[in-house]
Amino acid sequence: MKTAIATVSIPGDLRRKLKAIAKAGFDGVEIFEQDFIAQEMSPRDVGAMIRDHGLEIPLFQPFRDFETLPEPWRGRAFDRAERKFDLMQEMGTDLVLVCSSVHPRSQGGIDRAADDFRELGERAARRGLRVGFEALAWGRNFWDHRDAWEVVRRADHPNVGIILDSFHTLARKIDPDTIRTIPGDKIFFVQLADAPKIDMDLLYWSRHYRNMPGEGDLDVTGFMRAVCATGYAGPISLEIFNDQFRAGKTEALARDGHRSLIHLMDEVRRAAPGLPQDLPVLPERAEVGDISFVEFTTSAALRPQLNELLKSLGFSKVGQHIAKQVTLWQQGEVRIVVNTEEQGFAHAAFLTHGTGVCDIGLKVDDAKKALKRAVGLGAVKFSQPVGEGELDIPAIRGAGGSVMHFLDESDDLSKVWSTEFIRCGAGEARDAGLTRVDHIAQTTDYDEMLSWSLFYSSIFRMGRAPMVDVVDPDGLVRSQALQSADGKFRVTLNGAETHRTLAGHFLADSFGSSVQHVAFATADIFATAGKLAGFGFEPLPISPNYYEDLAARFGLGEDEAARMKAFNILYDEDEQGGFYQFYSRPWGDGLFFEIVERRNGYDGYGAPNAPFRIAAQKRLLGAEPALEP
Ligand code: MG
Ligand code: MG
Repeated sequence: MKTAIATVSIPGDLRRKLKAIAKAGFDGVEIFEQDFIAQEMSPRDVGAMIRDHGLEIPLFQPFRDFETLPEPWRGRAFDRAERKFDLMQEMGTDLVLVCSSVHPRSQGGIDRAADDFRELGERAARRGLRVGFEALAWGRNFWDHRDAWEVVRRADHPNVGIILDSFHTLARKIDPDTIRTIPGDKIFFVQLADAPKIDMDLLYWSRHYRNMPGEGDLDVTGFMRAVCATGYAGPISLEIFNDQFRAGKTEALARDGHRSLIHLMDEVRRAAPGLPQDLPVLPERAEVGDISFVEFTTSAALRPQLNELLKSLGFSKVGQHIAKQVTLWQQGEVRIVVNTEEQGFAHAAFLTHGTGVCDIGLKVDDAKKALKRAVGLGAVKFSQPVGEGELDIPAIRGAGGSVMHFLDESDDLSKVWSTEFIRCGAGEARDAGLTRVDHIAQTTDYDEMLSWSLFYSSIFRMGRAPMVDVVDPDGLVRSQALQSADGKFRVTLNGAETHRTLAGHFLADSFGSSVQHVAFATADIFATAGKLAGFGFEPLPISPNYYEDLAARFGLGEDEAARMKAFNILYDEDEQGGFYQFYSRPWGDGLFFEIVERRNGYDGYGAPNAPFRIAAQKRLLGAEPALEP
């Protein structure tokens, strides 16, 4: 199945768009007329430029306000169509999208529309061209693909077909299974877009909030299954209008777009095996379990400070790498790797981002399959020279150029710690009761949040929680959590719109999307807090006012509120249970740690506490000039 994208879907000038689209792996582009008009080149030269990029032009769009007009408007509409046909022939494309009219004089009537399309089909046929009718969700007389299909059926012309667009069908809540009755060869083209569920004017929703399949809430998979069931064999094409994307990065959006189509087709293939389509075959989404390790990069000069912080968190140094300046720290099932190599990717990450997380090891059901799927979805495979005695573990590039390793239970991979590290540090074992990594929090530009959400949810079996707005004293931070079904692997994405927010400040200082905090789980937050105090751990101090309010909000006993206050523990509840959390002080460029206890299946991240945490962190960072406007 061929893939395409409307030029309107990504920002930039046409030449840049084409380069990015070709690089991302698409087969073709829909030429959006605006993009053509903005060019100084002739239609012939634009067509040649597109083909020079190895791309086809399966569609020219849109041709507006055509059907069911009275004279003289009807005659003029046909004249306009002839001029578009001239242009299409020069450019080298044979299909035009005619979207349903919003013209105030459009009279409606299925037979009248069918007559108009039969005549248009006849004129197109004389030039070897084809015409596709698309019902816009806000069309004046035609807003439902079932009516558009009836028009096409009655027009009964080989050069007239229907064009389907998932947004128009799904936004109108029309059952996509009604598509199944349309013969596949009468569907001339299929456009795909998703969107978040927002209750608003259809036109406004479509023009500003569409996103890539899998990034929104519409059942694009169900729509596409119905399309495939008709035997449709034409291209699938993205037509996305989105304000965020208009300000986004051309290449990244093209890559996300292609990823979303491959992921969608994989979902369709799984849901409806036996469809007569040449769909891509990928391994299933990886089942992801615990975070096996978190690797920090730092310099030899800063290493003692990081070591002290890890000790104060109850970690013990348990291993030294056989060949590298890399040490292993452990507590419970949490492994922290500290890398101070002066070459290789970890060092490059340090030079770019400073001290921070440069690598995350994930336990997956099958590491090789996870790698194959990720690469099939356009992720970049990571490898660096493997030294003697080291293992070649499957890995890809993750956030901000960091690395994500996949580990499984297969023989050699489970031996990594005993193979690559010499055990050390017996006798200095400490333990504060941290058992595992609860979640990692990744901070990113707001523009890139959908991109990361798609990255995680297309490679791994992870679901998205609803987006939450977090109030920073200096602006809004949007937070989106993704987690595996059993809650073992959790990621929170924090999208900053301004650099004055703490998240934005971190982003500017660390030069791009990266892990801002790592949260560890304990089964007894008070015992852990007590032990950490003994190890010299310095918690983030929380305002006393918080505890007055907390006791009132949740009806906590005075004793419990006092104990929380003593340890600077924050609290939240959901329908299931309670949540306790406290934080380290921010470190370096704003990196910090969190300790959490989930009781009775609490499933959130303490979002209501975030403003108080952020305010406390900002107080500590002081009146740092960079934080002020
Ligand atoms: Mg469309
Ligand atoms: Mg957190």
